[in-house]
Amino acid sequence: MIPVIDTHCHLNMVAEKGISVSEALANMSQANLEAAVLIAVDEATAREHLAICTTASPGASPRLYWTAGLHPEGADNISGIEELFAFARSNRDRPDFLGIGETGLDYYHTTEHVTNQKESFSRHLAIAAELAVPTVVHLRDSQKFEPGKIQSILDAESLIRQSGATGVIHCFTYGFEEAMRFVEMGWFISFSGIVTYKNADVIQDAAIRLPLDRILVETDAPFLTPGAVRGKPNQPAYVRHTLDFVAQIRSAKTGESTQQIANAILENSRRFLALKK
Ligand SMILES: [Zn+2]
Repeated sequence: MIPVIDTHCHLNMVAEKGISVSEALANMSQANLEAAVLIAVDEATAREHLAICTTASPGASPRLYWTAGLHPEGADNISGIEELFAFARSNRDRPDFLGIGETGLDYYHTTEHVTNQKESFSRHLAIAAELAVPTVVHLRDSQKFEPGKIQSILDAESLIRQSGATGVIHCFTYGFEEAMRFVEMGWFISFSGIVTYKNADVIQDAAIRLPLDRILVETDAPFLTPGAVRGKPNQPAYVRHTLDFVAQIRSAKTGESTQQIANAILENSRRFLALKK
């Protein structure tokens, strides 16, 4: 079984769904996960993940990494952002600290707070560039999909371009053209369980047509359980289902073998982890 890396999960919340950290870790080993990245939505969750990484013995399999950031849905409350960034700076040289996020733009529920979200996002991009670490970006929009016209994509592209930061667009839910805007800036595109759902044709098309060296997979656990195990709370081990699905649909169209695709996604994930300089 080719190793796989879950590039985005909320392990603290997986525990809240009744799957303990030790159980989740055992399942990860069994599914041959090489590593998992524990993503923060605020300072408290970054600290929880730091504690989990500290408890899991270093060098243990899978390797665990964590990030620090404020989710765009919390961007109206950026008063503590400098404290959060100070916390990230002070942990910069810990080997398990990977980068900044999740941050980004979420225009799904409301566009009322766009100004605050843009300010928070650009400050996250700036500190990621300063620390020379990757950024984990969340983009979501209520707009009906229309290629080239999604406002959160356009706004994110221009803020990223100004920042010089690097990283991943996580849980990608748009089309090939949207993805390529970020690929052209050297970013990775990560697919979650959503790519396995019915009616995900546009996302599947992107997973098939993107350059093979830019694709990552993730769970976003405990959310977005892949179709093959639907009904259960998601956990990092299930990233294997999303990997298998992407490898199968892509192999059917491109002629690349599923093994070649799984190997490429593993190499991409290792390069993603190595973006921290
Ligand atoms: Zn997330």
